[in-house]
Amino acid sequence: MKKLQMVDLKGQYEKIKEEVDKSIIDVVDSTAYINGPAVKQFQENLEQYMGVKHVIPCANGTDALQISMMAIGLKPGDEVITVDFTFAATVEVIALLNLTPVLIDVDKDTFNIDLIKLEQAITPKTKAIVPVHLFGHVAQMEEIMDIAKKHNLYVIEDNAQAIGANYTFKDGSQQKAGTIGNVGATSFFPSKNLGAYGDGGAIFTNNDDLAHTIRGVVNHGMYERYHHDVVGVNSRLDSVQAAILDIKLKHLDDYSFRRQNAARHYTEVLSKSENIETPKTITHKQCDNSKGICDTCDCHVFHQYTIKIKNGKRGELVDHFKANNIPHGVYYPIPLHSQKAYKDERYDEKEFKVTNELVDEVISLPMHTELDKEQIDYITSEIIKVIG
Ligand SMILES: *Cc1c(COP(=O)(O)O)cnc(C)c1O
Repeated sequence: MKKLQMVDLKGQYEKIKEEVDKSIIDVVDSTAYINGPAVKQFQENLEQYMGVKHVIPCANGTDALQISMMAIGLKPGDEVITVDFTFAATVEVIALLNLTPVLIDVDKDTFNIDLIKLEQAITPKTKAIVPVHLFGHVAQMEEIMDIAKKHNLYVIEDNAQAIGANYTFKDGSQQKAGTIGNVGATSFFPSKNLGAYGDGGAIFTNNDDLAHTIRGVVNHGMYERYHHDVVGVNSRLDSVQAAILDIKLKHLDDYSFRRQNAARHYTEVLSKSENIETPKTITHKQCDNSKGICDTCDCHVFHQYTIKIKNGKRGELVDHFKANNIPHGVYYPIPLHSQKAYKDERYDEKEFKVTNELVDEVISLPMHTELDKEQIDYITSEIIKVIG
């Protein structure tokens, strides 16, 4: 059996090595290291792939979120609602801009924003919602957009974990995750579904004015050379990274398919255990999720394959994994509202029932494009052996 890894970047690289190596050398040779033609080309190809009018590349996913919030013109004290169960970057940028983060609980099945809690959290100070498509599964965007419209709020999608995922609206139309809100932010961190060989990120929008503002913000607030109209940042995608990403973009659908296939194999075995809850997808008309995995609409691209271990058995499983060198991860072990940096007396522990449970139950299994059936069979049999 191939060595088990949480993510197999090397195996993935080897399959596209020749093409990738050439693209890197080409950039080095061209000396167009900053904002060279490779960046433009990747930007245009990504616009086409995403079906979005504007892609603005930037330095990383955290910047993409921050720049989106700056461009929208949020002011200190404005409330921004996001989830308690996500990577810290989401809330970090809200706090950094002196906006007021309002953390809310997530849905126990999808791990995504709880729509009822969302409506309850809206106040006259609320200006934006940041749904996170956690672990690669698109949040309920149609409902979120309806709520946002009703209350006149911006929606910034944190699409760092779900690039390539599709969202199906009730009328059957589809849009890529990240292109539905006013703005979408994504990350090309190496282990993300479309990973660079270093840092990278991008912002998506269909709004021409917003795109114009964002292009200035990423470039020192400059719209004309040496004219600084707004306070901006310096956030660029490297030409070398863009060249690599442009090659990997051609494989993204295949990568998503491989992840979904691995998820299917995991779920086939693990869903039989009464101590395990396998991932669930939201049901919409077109979504055949009878096996917990949508086979029809790609609404989940499995950045992580994350299961819940019930009946207090996660500790036993973690011990067994450690003893047998089986890679695993707990994303995320501490709710954001309990983190030192984001604690606030406004928060009522009772309001975070689901997240407080999830941090004790979730475990993520190896998930990547190179995972094979033999490896999955081994991992699942070890899990069943320990926790039944
Ligand atoms: C990875 C990630 C980010 C940040 O991306 P970086 O490129 O590492 O800055 C933001 N939000 C979520 C949910 C992420 O998973």
